[in-house]
Amino acid sequence: MAKQLLGKEVTAALNDRIRATVAVLKEREVMPKMAFLRVGERPDDLSYERGASKRCETLGVTYEKYILPNDCTQEELLETMNRLNQDESIHGILMFRPLPDHLNEEEAVAMMDPAKDIDGITAGSMAGVFMGTNQGFAPCTAQACMEILDYYGIDCTGKKAVVVGRSLVVGKPAAIMLIGKNATVTVCHTRTKDMPSVVREADIVIVAAGRPGVIDGRYLSEGQIVIDVGINVNEEGKLCGDVCYDEAEQIVDMITPVPGGVGSVTTSVLVGHVVEAAVRSLK
Ligand code: NAP
Repeated sequence: MAKQLLGKEVTAALNDRIRATVAVLKEREVMPKMAFLRVGERPDDLSYERGASKRCETLGVTYEKYILPNDCTQEELLETMNRLNQDESIHGILMFRPLPDHLNEEEAVAMMDPAKDIDGITAGSMAGVFMGTNQGFAPCTAQACMEILDYYGIDCTGKKAVVVGRSLVVGKPAAIMLIGKNATVTVCHTRTKDMPSVVREADIVIVAAGRPGVIDGRYLSEGQIVIDVGINVNEEGKLCGDVCYDEAEQIVDMITPVPGGVGSVTTSVLVGHVVEAAVRSLK
């Protein structure tokens, strides 16, 4: 039976580090602060906002909510973004996406100051990930996967890693970060041929496809470490990942459960970015 890689263990360690940094900042009278920028009342946004604001409270990070009506204009959105960029008391901005269709998301993202881009969505942050510099921040979920590998002492050097999914939010940055950890990386997507044999060859598998149970026993082999990023709702209305857990746990060595895996780590990574942005603002 596979060992579970538990998000709560990783989060606890991450939270300790964040709290320690917050304490040092407070000694220097710096209060790390995050701004939530939300348009409308999408249930997904509200749920993420609740989780993130609660985590901020737990970790001593302050926050403010900037909420625009669903029918706000592009000008109002850009004005708000500009205000948040200028406000020196705000260290990080989380803009919920997707924005309503009438708004130009690309323009809003392009305006965000990469130094405050705690969600890793600007071109500046992407450049930071690809070039391995400290510009902006890595997308939180991709970083959460790396935090899990690090916490459990999984050395990626020389290992074969497969990432299923090539989105800018998870798949691509996760692949680049694995290369940074000296893994040999293959990225799979909907056009990949004979995916089961590609995935079976891997030592480390990160799955971010957004398809419940897309990776079943046929894709897996003994000794693998599997990180399941997927968050889906199955036919019974229950949360589930992209990996068919019941089959996987009989085959692989280690696996993250859903729920209880990557999700909670992602929230702490986000809050950690606010704190890191506050640290960088001192330099
Ligand atoms: P996305 O933008 O829809 O991208 C999905 C990627 O998976 C695409 O590159 C797609 O390939 C690939 N894909 C889809 N079906 C596939 C299949 N059958 N075989 C091979 N590749 C396939 O999704 P995302 O934003 O990256 O999110 C992925 C999952 O992670 C979702 O379940 C999402 O809810 C979850 N998520 C979790 C967290 C967390 O904190 N745990 C955070 C963010 C996202 P193509 O490019 O060819 O279309």
